Amino acid sequence: MTMHHPQLAHCPHCSAEVEAASQSCRYCGKSLKQAPSKRQLKLKSDRRWAAWVMAGFFVATLVAVSLISQNH
Ligand SMILES: [Zn+2]
Repeated sequence: MTMHHPQLAHCPHCSAEVEAASQSCRYCGKSLKQAPSKRQLKLKSDRRWAAWVMAGFFVATLVAVSLISQNH
């Protein structure tokens, strides 16, 4: 079998054969560059962690200030 195609890739959404250089799948129309990846999920969870840490720090500061003002 000698089939010479341009560089082909499989669409991550519908798994159809599409040209690797194309920006979006010509079958389902979704972007080939924005495939759902674990890296994006990790970024989202990291942001959520940062928000929780900031909220916890804020609450801890409020509690500490109120405790200090009560002691004096
Ligand atoms: Zn597709």
